[in-house]
Amino acid sequence: MVVGFEKAVSATKSVVTSAKKAPTTLSSDRVINFARGDPTMYESYWRQMGEKCTVVISGHNLMSYFSNAGHFCWFLMPELDRAIRRLHCVVRNAVVDDDRYIVVGNGSTQLFQAVLYALSSSYDPDTEPLSVVAAAPFYSSYPEETEFLRSGLYKWAGDAYSFEKDGAYIEVVTSPNNPDGAIREAVVNRDGGKLIHDLAYYWPQYTPITGKADNDIMLFTFSKATGHAGSRIGWAVVKDIEVATKMVKFMELSSIGVSKESQLRAARILEVISDDCQNSAPDKEENFFEYGQRLMSDRWEKLREVVKRNGVFSLPKYPQDYCNFIGKYTDPSPAFAWLKSKDGLNCDNLLRELKIVTRGGTNFGVDSNYTRISMLSPDDDFNLLLERLSAIKGTTINGNN
Ligand code: PMP
Repeated sequence: MVVGFEKAVSATKSVVTSAKKAPTTLSSDRVINFARGDPTMYESYWRQMGEKCTVVISGHNLMSYFSNAGHFCWFLMPELDRAIRRLHCVVRNAVVDDDRYIVVGNGSTQLFQAVLYALSSSYDPDTEPLSVVAAAPFYSSYPEETEFLRSGLYKWAGDAYSFEKDGAYIEVVTSPNNPDGAIREAVVNRDGGKLIHDLAYYWPQYTPITGKADNDIMLFTFSKATGHAGSRIGWAVVKDIEVATKMVKFMELSSIGVSKESQLRAARILEVISDDCQNSAPDKEENFFEYGQRLMSDRWEKLREVVKRNGVFSLPKYPQDYCNFIGKYTDPSPAFAWLKSKDGLNCDNLLRELKIVTRGGTNFGVDSNYTRISMLSPDDDFNLLLERLSAIKGTTINGNN
């Protein structure tokens, strides 16, 4: 079965040969890229915040390598440690009691590698590398990050659902999941397993906050929490001091810590969010998470409408839940749309014909009839996406549906 397009934008040959180009209000021949999860859509919110988040740093400031000599994580600025703990208390999405250790990293990407090192370095060097698994569809960077240096300590072992090996292993649990937005729990559940919880998207704009996460190793990132991907700040909340200390060792050797300019900026922005969330004035403005939640659910509503109308694709359905932060039932509105071709076609290729670049299912350990679309792009791009998807009609070239 072949899909036909009524108003495809600059259609190429193959499945869109029967397409007619039709002028649309927003369309152009511009390629729009939804393959990356660059959270630029929050820019307009932060622009409105004006000087509230501005941090001034003089030439003589922040010169030392050290932020807190004597502390186990000597490069973590106390301001950032406080701001992170405060924000988690305000949002109620994670336990950050005093006996939890915070390690800051250059994005959670570096922390992921630090955790792999920390969990695998105590194993006997003569034994096989420790298997690292995640349930498919999994975040496409995990295999690459795990395999890149061909470490003797750990190795990528693929989909957790089909992991059969006995003995020690590491499972990465991403919740809500990238790419499909599912709320997840560990799937292997065998003796000798160590878990890394990647909670990059456990924030109210993406999912109802139903409880405080309290896992052994939790990864968060400034990129997805607030949209400041360029600052490259991530943090881990760790229960075991030995694991946390090994992570710090990895950070020492890979980058001798984390930029203090970035940490200071992150601390300021997190404090501004917490202040706004705790503001009880009657005329207060919507806080960052309320804004993000409204924007994301508006985008999801529009996308679902278009997908329903064209009948070519399907999207996952998510159950509503009570969000302790927002104080009412909310629909999940994940950072990515996990689009499936109903006819089993290569979804990524199909969209490329409409000059929509996405990241195909095979990158995430599943079939090419799935593809991932970022929901975090600027308004203009998102509107263009809706327009181009609206132009697709679920009819076949020979008229069969
Ligand atoms: N984990 C997940 C699930 C992600 O989606 C991302 C970013 N795409 C990261 C980690 C990495 O985030 P960072 O920008 O902090 O390196």
